[in-house]
Amino acid sequence: MPHDARKQPLTLRLCGPRGFCAGVDRAIQIVVLALKKYGAPVYVRHEIVHNRYVVEGLQNRGAVFVEELDEIPAEHRARPVVFSAHGVPKSVPAEARLHNLLYLDATCPLVSKVHKQAILHEKRGRHVILVGHRGHPEVIGTMGQLPPGAVTLVETEADVAGLPMEAEAPLGYVTQTTLSVDDTAGILGALQRRFPAIAAPGAESICYATTNRQEAVKHAAQGCDLFLIVGAPNSSNSRRLVEVAERAGARRSALVQGAGEIDWEGIGEPAVVGLSAGASAPEILVDEIIAAFRARFEVTVELAITAEENEEFPVMNALKDVELTSADMAFLNGSR
Ligand code: SF4
Repeated sequence: MPHDARKQPLTLRLCGPRGFCAGVDRAIQIVVLALKKYGAPVYVRHEIVHNRYVVEGLQNRGAVFVEELDEIPAEHRARPVVFSAHGVPKSVPAEARLHNLLYLDATCPLVSKVHKQAILHEKRGRHVILVGHRGHPEVIGTMGQLPPGAVTLVETEADVAGLPMEAEAPLGYVTQTTLSVDDTAGILGALQRRFPAIAAPGAESICYATTNRQEAVKHAAQGCDLFLIVGAPNSSNSRRLVEVAERAGARRSALVQGAGEIDWEGIGEPAVVGLSAGASAPEILVDEIIAAFRARFEVTVELAITAEENEEFPVMNALKDVELTSADMAFLNGSR
């Protein structure tokens, strides 16, 4: 193919791993399988994963999103309800049981692991310090594993300095799974300096997907005129990728939900553009962005792969026997 002389050359540096993680994959599968098994509507408490494209795709198949269980109309109380990948406070399944609801818990197993660590700290007589972002559903879910007052949320190093506990108080920490690896290291360092005996969780709370996506962006950012992260404004792990790109040397970085959100007017004449996607962003949105760049530039795609991922989390037994069509599989792979 002859080069198009009117188009400026551009290197698109495509990160890997990017996009869907095993927990997001499993949560979307659970909704799709529940729709197949029980028919529509299937209720979903909170956005199953923080992505409008995924949510709208599931709505089109018959999922109905609610924020609280009491929004499910009385005549639909026998319909299944799925809890999102971010996890829920213990009060939510308790309420579901009280009202005899059929619930399917799509909490990511790595979030459940953090819940278990928090519970273990408490059983061992420790007050729990949770490092995370106030108001994020995962933080609400983790705090809600223990009685009020048993967990203190810390968002910054300054928060650590303001903690009222004595240096030798029995404490244990856990973190949100989707934090910045570097910022969290700073906060944990501050905690360990103030409370030398603070107990760590048995396993790292920041998950493999968060770590791998940040590592790939860090590796690719140097020399990028612009770094685009595909993700939703309420997706914690996607927002962290934007910060990582800028700190690691990209001149600018931006969060976009799709090709339509790219500032094509103000994009200038970039030579190198980095591209990655948060754990809740489907690959089709990345494909659309690559196509949109190809329409405007003479694009060379350069891969920036820093890890291989093979994680898969199985769905619950109740849904294992449900068969999927190839169209269902395409939807699940983010390439509807
Ligand atoms: S980002 Fe990590 S913790 Fe969250 S759903 Fe994905 S694998 Fe699970």
